[in-house]
Amino acid sequence: MTPVTCFSGKTVTVFGLGGSGLVTAEALRAGGARVLAWDDKQAARDKAAEAGFAIADPLQQGLDGQDALILSPGVPLTHPAPHPVVLKAQSARVEIIGDIELFFRQRALISPDAPCVAITGTNGKSTTTALISHLLQVAGRDVAMGGNIGTAILALPVPDKTRVHVIECSTFQIDLAPSLAPGIGILTNLTPDHLDRHGTMALYAAIKQRLVEQSGLAVIGVDDAFCQQIADQLEGQDHPLVRLSMDHPLQDGISRDGTRLVLNGPDGEMDVADLAGIASLRGVHNAQNAAAAIATVLALGVDGETIRRGLRSFPGLAHRMQPLGHAGRALIVNDSKATNAEAAGKALASFAGGIHWIIGGVAKEGGIDGLKPYFNRIAHAYLIGKSTPLFAGQLGDDVPFSDCGTLEQAFAQAVERANASGEQEPVVLLSPACASYDQFPNFEVRGARFKDMAEAMTGFRPMGKDA
Ligand code: ADP
Repeated sequence: MTPVTCFSGKTVTVFGLGGSGLVTAEALRAGGARVLAWDDKQAARDKAAEAGFAIADPLQQGLDGQDALILSPGVPLTHPAPHPVVLKAQSARVEIIGDIELFFRQRALISPDAPCVAITGTNGKSTTTALISHLLQVAGRDVAMGGNIGTAILALPVPDKTRVHVIECSTFQIDLAPSLAPGIGILTNLTPDHLDRHGTMALYAAIKQRLVEQSGLAVIGVDDAFCQQIADQLEGQDHPLVRLSMDHPLQDGISRDGTRLVLNGPDGEMDVADLAGIASLRGVHNAQNAAAAIATVLALGVDGETIRRGLRSFPGLAHRMQPLGHAGRALIVNDSKATNAEAAGKALASFAGGIHWIIGGVAKEGGIDGLKPYFNRIAHAYLIGKSTPLFAGQLGDDVPFSDCGTLEQAFAQAVERANASGEQEPVVLLSPACASYDQFPNFEVRGARFKDMAEAMTGFRPMGKDA
């Protein structure tokens, strides 16, 4: 744990005790703060009370005289409307911050030069974060990975010169962290997502921009107009910058040539990696994640040979284009994490054809309209969940589809039809382009259910165990 001493002797309220909230309260208490805790859920309050925290509802008791409101990133700060506790803090002139902010204040106090990488972007954050951590581990470094992935940031060991913190940041977390200033800041890409929680694309992009703007070295994917503009702006300010492009060559930065990643710079051109045959990094989107990770670890002094070895041994992340194994001739791929059309498009783009696509749930704005260019790769679509009428209309006559209702039905039908097809290796792909909450608590449960079904099939051969 990283005790937070900057509020020693002061009083703070931690609002939102699920996920990282309780850890934050512990870290503040360990650093000498007087912590009041609150959560709308009784069970979360009970847990905090059991851990010895004073429970106080800031909406009833006010925040006057307190030094900070530590907000969970799940509580609306601005959109669709500020939570009443935010308004309360603002009127009491109490600052509103999150756990990432506490970490960076503590780092500034105890080890301002401690290596720290922060990662954001609409898509690819977790893969890039996990890959950077993996490459650093292969290089023998002490790595602390967390934030929006896995471990809450304050549950990680203290920042130190000999340890690299690799921190995934959501937009909500950045919005609550004015002092976020990583040694290396990565922005993978920007496309509309969660705009219900950020108002406009301009606001969303401006929040993400802060992470790279306040970094020592910015690593930016420049294949969308928003990121391109941010990179240009930083270059105009002489900010140290590495650009990444997967769709055009760069004079300065890492670009893609087929499956190869090429680094161009003042010393000329250098092949940094070839991703051919690396199943965990399939697809152009993963090439972008790999490029971001490579730029980062090169800057941290990892050599090319170690990077290439690390790329080959990267196990990938669960629920992100995760090849599970084969049922008959069909390759079963779990991409449950694809909760928007943009992400699902990346999965569709990774296979040339013969895709048996399981889609549906709670659709995002625009549904799957933007995926039309990939429709000719889809052998059949299997619709589940609330979005069925919308997607049926959008697929229209272009793609044959079945209304399956549930994931169970969709999986059974997809495996059967895929194996009956003439394809040599058809793909049964769960890449739903939707949030899961109409049928599942979250995308992890949806993906785990899919994996369980695959593993329960007679004759299923998990990855790595194929003949
Ligand atoms: P995040 O943490 O940003 O949600 P993940 O690494 O968990 O991103 O990947 C989630 C999904 O997004 C993947 O399953 C894939 O479909 C898609 N994706 C991953 N990387 C990228 C990328 N660089 N660009 C676009 N889409 C991506």
